Amino acid sequence: IDTWASVPQAPPDSIFKLTAAYKTDTHPQKVNLGVGAYRDDNGKPWVLPVVQKVNEILLKDTTLDHEYLPITGLPEFTSAAAQVLFSAGSAALKEGRISSVQTISGTGANHLAALFLAKFYQWNGPKQVFISNPTWANHKAILKNVGIEPVDYPYYDPKTIGLDFSGLLNSLSSAPERSVFLLHACAHNPTGVDPTNEQWEKIADVMLQKGHYAFFDCAYQGFASGDLDRDASAVRHFEQRGVPLLVCQSFAKNAGLYGERVGALHVVGATHDAAVRVKSQLSVLQRSEISNPPTYGARIMALILNDSGLFEEWKRDIKTMADRIINMRKELFVLLTDELKTPGKWEHIVNQIGMFSFTGLNTTQSKALLEKAHVYLTENGRISMAGLNSKNIRYFAESMDQAVR
Ligand code: PLP
Repeated sequence: IDTWASVPQAPPDSIFKLTAAYKTDTHPQKVNLGVGAYRDDNGKPWVLPVVQKVNEILLKDTTLDHEYLPITGLPEFTSAAAQVLFSAGSAALKEGRISSVQTISGTGANHLAALFLAKFYQWNGPKQVFISNPTWANHKAILKNVGIEPVDYPYYDPKTIGLDFSGLLNSLSSAPERSVFLLHACAHNPTGVDPTNEQWEKIADVMLQKGHYAFFDCAYQGFASGDLDRDASAVRHFEQRGVPLLVCQSFAKNAGLYGERVGALHVVGATHDAAVRVKSQLSVLQRSEISNPPTYGARIMALILNDSGLFEEWKRDIKTMADRIINMRKELFVLLTDELKTPGKWEHIVNQIGMFSFTGLNTTQSKALLEKAHVYLTENGRISMAGLNSKNIRYFAESMDQAVR
């Protein structure tokens, strides 16, 4: 019997498809601006020096074994991860109101969060979560997988290549009370457009008025501005104001641990007692999903986060990555405006933050860049700034200039 005769062929993931096409391209000046992973100035993956050091420490440690971790993860990792996100002075942390569980990086945290909400959130009407338009494509899929309907809220304004703040506020005000809003803590993917601190305060005001729930996705702490505290300021502000919230945390980007899959889910409760109950249910869900999270990445991060010397080294490495990206933004802006006199306004390239930039190029222009210049980017005009370096930035700027003329 042909059991799977009716299974339709699924389309390939658009980002991974782009990378595959890039790899087979033989053009000498090809540029890959698709994938969201950091590259150094030679276009190569970068193992953070602090991670290299910790790898050597772990290799020499003869006390380590390959036993299972607890279901909710390595305790010295999850507690330190909560501290780096919320800060040591956080009231929720001091009062024991945060349930922290180690997850399969940020994706796993998003999944566990969605699964937990689907089961236990006090829904006011249908199970739906508001997501920014656009957002990381996986958000929709992850929510749908657990029976939650994703509903778009306005976020990006193509006219200003910036934030549609009034659209966002309207949507917050008109949504039913106790709605769940998925927010990018910093370095919004794919646009690179973040609310300012004053705008975050207004968002928190409306969320409190309406009793909304904040589902924070924090995949780029430190990577955006180069400063861990600054990039956590929206989450910390919401926590201080008492907005009910959870945070999905990833160490893929800020520690370059993409393949190690190390992250955490933090659910903030109103009381310590609530946090204990929430954690017990997260543990039950985790058990049936993955039994126990993986050890290696958690050991690396536990060492870095709990040792003041290693922590300082990590902060330096984060700054190296963030500064290189910020410099690429500045250089690209100068090339386009001062040198090439490319038609259009390009301030958004320096104003946007984090790994990605929404260039404002339309589908036709993006396709032309790919076909004529062998520059690989998604059709929505998003580029990964990490794919630019001192060797290819001029070629990219010239190709972009030609594409918009
Ligand atoms: N959330 C956002 C917004 C992202 O951009 C990413 C990665 O691209 C993730 C979550 C999760 O990444 P990972 O599962 O590798 O931590």
